[in-house]
This record gives sequence, structure tokens and C-alpha cells, in this order.
Amino acid sequence: TPLLEARTLTKHFPLGRGAVVRAVDGVDFTVMKGETLGVVGESGCGKSTTARVVMQLIPQDEGQMLFDGEAVGSSALSLKDYRRQAQMVFQDSFASLNPRLTIEDSIAFGPMVHGVPKSGAILRARDLLARVGLDPARFAARYPHELSGGQRQRVNIARALALGPRLVILDEAVSALDKSVEAQVLNLLMDLREEFGLTYIFISHDLNVVRFISDRVMVMYLGEVVEIGPVEELYDDPRHPYTKALLSAMPSMDPDNRTMEAPLAGDPPNPINPPEGCRFHPRCPQAQTICSKAKPALTPVGAGQRLAACHMEIPGSGHSRAPALEDA
Ligand code: SF4
Ligand code: MG
Repeated sequence: TPLLEARTLTKHFPLGRGAVVRAVDGVDFTVMKGETLGVVGESGCGKSTTARVVMQLIPQDEGQMLFDGEAVGSSALSLKDYRRQAQMVFQDSFASLNPRLTIEDSIAFGPMVHGVPKSGAILRARDLLARVGLDPARFAARYPHELSGGQRQRVNIARALALGPRLVILDEAVSALDKSVEAQVLNLLMDLREEFGLTYIFISHDLNVVRFISDRVMVMYLGEVVEIGPVEELYDDPRHPYTKALLSAMPSMDPDNRTMEAPLAGDPPNPINPPEGCRFHPRCPQAQTICSKAKPALTPVGAGQRLAACHMEIPGSGHSRAPALEDA
């Protein structure tokens, strides 16, 4: 069953003089209850803007979201109710904690804002500290600067869970951590997902980590979804040329070389006035004449659980797989 259904979400940022950043441009996806949807793509592809729109930290220009079947912002599901059920953890563990509040007060703050009495909120905070692996007797009264990066991120996770959310968006949430700490926090996230029946959207530039934690993966390029499907299917047999390029540029498990710096040839993607047709065509090794003219729709590929937006994958388009002579 779907928990979140995003329908043609669009968010543009006008820059003046007719220039527009098409940060998120008609994005459609579904997140099923209890799953982790990984989101990957180079910086500027719209991952974080998508997350902020899903969180309703910024409103979409167009499109709609359904949460457990109800339209977000409708009389059946107010923004306030939705915001309690959808929480986010960011990369920067310092920036999201108030330096003047103790750890337990930080975690208790959200529930108190929502009307939970202080004593109850503090009890819940201490319980959550224990669940994220921080002994409340030792950590409850500490301040953020007295913690390591990994401990602070555990606090941020506890804080995100304090209102009993159903959906948690993790935006580069483990990216700043050392490899060994990162593995511990990933395992914690997987345990918490089971224990609390959570659903995750996991955004990361690290394709190894996304493979480890995700059930399905969504690949974004210049504000659009280019491929989405079950994680192993997508990693083992990528269909969109951008997914192929991304995965072939994927570094090994070498901890010193885990980011995707300059993964692809051609102009770096620029979401200001992106190319016509398929937005990947200026960099695509398989581009045909049609690719600069017509936008490919997301189409079922492979076993059918997967969608890809590439003219070469559309059956009967006359373009599937074999390049046409005129373009060769
Ligand atoms: Fe490449 Fe054309 Fe497919 Fe776009 S539609 S990914 S340019 S082959
Ligand atoms: Mg980002």
C-alpha cells in the first residue's frame, strides 16, 4: 500500500530576466508503507528540493501529494497533522540542534510545541535516547557541543521520532560521518524502521550506501525522474543511459574515494533553462535525433516493476535499442 504518492510535483525558482531554475519539474513517485526509497543523482538534480517540497517546508508550484490516501493540506489532512507525521533529518548535525538546549530538551521541544506536558515530553525524550543507543543517564543533560558527530546525529534521529512520525526523510543524513560510524547509524536506522513501522526516503550521493539501505531507488536528473525501480534490478541492469553512467562511475567500497566527483563527460547539468527534449541528450552516448526534440515519458521496462524515461526503451518507438541508420 502506498504511504506517499507524489503527483507531478513542480517547483521552479525564478531568477529574473526570464531565467528559471527548474529544480523539480513534474516529478511522480510513490513510497510504499514500510519501504525505503533511495534517491540519487548529481548535485543540482533536485533531490533536496524534492525533499523540501515533500516536507512542505516550501510549497510546490504545481502537483499534489497524497499521504495514506488523503490529499496533504485538505480538510481530511491538514498541513499541521501532516507535518507531525513526516519528519526530516539533515546532514549537518550541528545546525539542526539548538546549542543552548540540553539534548533531552531538544528532543522534548517538538512534542511540547504540540501540547504534550513537559514531564511527559522529557520521559519520551529519555526513552528515545535509549532507543537510539545513547544512555539517558549519561547524555540527557549534555549540550550538542559535548557530543561527537555520530552521537549528534543519533540525537537528531531521536528528535525526528519524538512526534511519532510515519515518514522520515533522510537528506544526506549519514554523509558527514566516518565510515565506521556511518555503518552503525545505518544499522540503527534499519532497526528503527522495523521497530516503529517507519517509511524512509533516503537521499544520498553515495550509491553504495543507497544500495545497502534501499528497497527501491529513484534516479533524478535535472529536476526529473529518469528511472525508478527495485534496488537490485536497477543496480544490476540499469536501463536509462544516465543511470548506467552514474553506476559505471560508482567508486568501489574504497572509503577514501566514495563521492561521485565529475562522474560524467559533457557539460555539467544546469537546472537553469535545461535542454529541450530529453534533458540528458547533450551528455548521452546513445542520443538520437529524436532525443533533442521530444521528451521521453516514464515507461515500464524490464520485469515491469521499473520505469525509465528514455526513447530507446519505448517498445515500438522505432528507436528501441538499435540505433537508426540516419543517426549512426
Ligand atoms: Fe539518451 Fe535519448 Fe535516452 Fe535521453 S532519450 S537518455 S538522450 S537515448
Ligand atoms: Mg542536497
